Amino acid sequence: MTTAKTPPKSQPQKPADSPIVEVRNPANGSIAGVVPNVPADEVARLAGELRAVQPAWEALGPKGRAVYLRRWLDWIVDNQDHILGLVHREAGKSWGDAQIELLVCMEVINYYTKHGAEFLADETRRPHGPASATKGLRIRYRPYELVGVICPWNYPLGMPMLDVPQALMAGAAVLTKPSEETPLGWAEVVRGWSEIGAPPVLGCVTGRGETGRAVVDTVDMVQFTGSTKTGRQVGIRCAERLIPVSLELGGKDAMIVLSDAPLQRTIRGAIWGGLFNSGQSCVAVERIYVEAPLYDEFTTRLVEQVNKLRQGHDAAGSFSADIGALANEAQMEIVERHVNDAVARGARILTGGKRAERGLFYAPTVLVDVDHTMACMREETFGPLLPIMKVSSEDEAIAMANDTTYGLGASVWTANKDRAERVSRRIEAGGVNINNAMIHVFQFPLPMGGWKQSGLGHRMGGADGIRKYCRAQAVVSEKVHLPTETHWYPYSSRKARITGAVLRLVEMHDWRRRLGRRPKL
Ligand code: NAD
Repeated sequence: MTTAKTPPKSQPQKPADSPIVEVRNPANGSIAGVVPNVPADEVARLAGELRAVQPAWEALGPKGRAVYLRRWLDWIVDNQDHILGLVHREAGKSWGDAQIELLVCMEVINYYTKHGAEFLADETRRPHGPASATKGLRIRYRPYELVGVICPWNYPLGMPMLDVPQALMAGAAVLTKPSEETPLGWAEVVRGWSEIGAPPVLGCVTGRGETGRAVVDTVDMVQFTGSTKTGRQVGIRCAERLIPVSLELGGKDAMIVLSDAPLQRTIRGAIWGGLFNSGQSCVAVERIYVEAPLYDEFTTRLVEQVNKLRQGHDAAGSFSADIGALANEAQMEIVERHVNDAVARGARILTGGKRAERGLFYAPTVLVDVDHTMACMREETFGPLLPIMKVSSEDEAIAMANDTTYGLGASVWTANKDRAERVSRRIEAGGVNINNAMIHVFQFPLPMGGWKQSGLGHRMGGADGIRKYCRAQAVVSEKVHLPTETHWYPYSSRKARITGAVLRLVEMHDWRRRLGRRPKL
């Protein structure tokens, strides 16, 4: 592995009550920008403005709203160098890693503007029995007035873009809160929404946890992406306010490499899945279980490939580094703790295992002789670690993969379809990739959500991905206009006798009861 020359470490942030947030490039400590730490009363004021415009936005209908979303995408693409430049600096990413953020903008906006009208159309349902035969039944999808979208720092554009287009397409107004670590790119994209002349239904409040808390306190529905710890607090607050919440939280995704896995692809998949974005993806490969017959060759060749990776903060547009910096000092401390703990408990470092002298770079690291007593196999690392464990069988691999409180994603690597089906079916996680890593996140017809401590609800999933921002309204209409209904006043014994007889006739399952007789004992 070649390590680019890395400038000084990042500086400490301003205190939590400061009216501003300084955003520093973790690769060199330089100030990437400054944003306001928006207080709660300002959040509430902006929420009121967004709510006021929402009815007109809803009235535009999905096709009218899609026009603005597509115009917004054009603006983003026209300004991509500027926006990705901000992301590149605020997150300390490699230029290559930053590119995927634009792909997410394109894909999500195009998918949900294309299908929005179809997904939001009223749904007709058949009445369930003769008593309702004269009713016309429909489900109508009406948006929440104001949706709050709270995001983490790992994909400054990609994270909000996985949810905001659907909420806007649903007809909701949206108040976003990017991470205090990386608010610059997203704030600029939200500015673009006003620049294209779109109705002011999209807002952005920058700031720390208090600002996020104020968002939760003012919106009608919360989409939260972040750590399990904060997600739990958000969930509790939403329960107190009796508003719905969707939580996309942490993960500890297992990669199962079976003895017949296609080796070259599997090694490349492990490296990309584990190290992309410096390993700071919720669905990153965090643990690798390899069946014994393939273990030695897999590990040797994987280390050879990892050693060829280039780490650094390359110039915008240069694509001369593969792996960038970690986003902040706290993340560096977690990575160092996991490696030190593993080594203290008997693990061996085959490559990497140290931070750079300057900048928040941690060398891509391969660990072996690991086990489940070690933090690196149990806690979310969110860093460039590939801990590899040898397993003796499919059963052991599955047991190890499921031995976690998390359940976000997983992958199974094998050339045999039956084995893939057998193993993937037993994985306790919201998504399983077969012979690929992380890619389920980008299959929008499928749901992306965590099981166990990895979340509550899901995003995407075709129509569900937009309907989650709506309240389902049951609409019942009369197909035949009768002067009265049998169950309306006045009650009478004659009416009750006739209704009872008819009900028994159509609702009971044997002729004795249908005819009002008792069954033989
Ligand atoms: P975090 O939980 O610390 O912060 C997330 C956001 O919540 C930030 O914007 C923060 O300011 C805000 N916040 C903090 N306290 C709050 C409160 N009390 N109320 C409301 N908002 C509050 O997470 P992070 O460190 O920024 O991100 C890393 C985590 O995100 C990792 O655990 C990762 O796995 C997870 N993540 C999950 C997914 C997913 O789709 N499941 C995707 C990306 C990241």
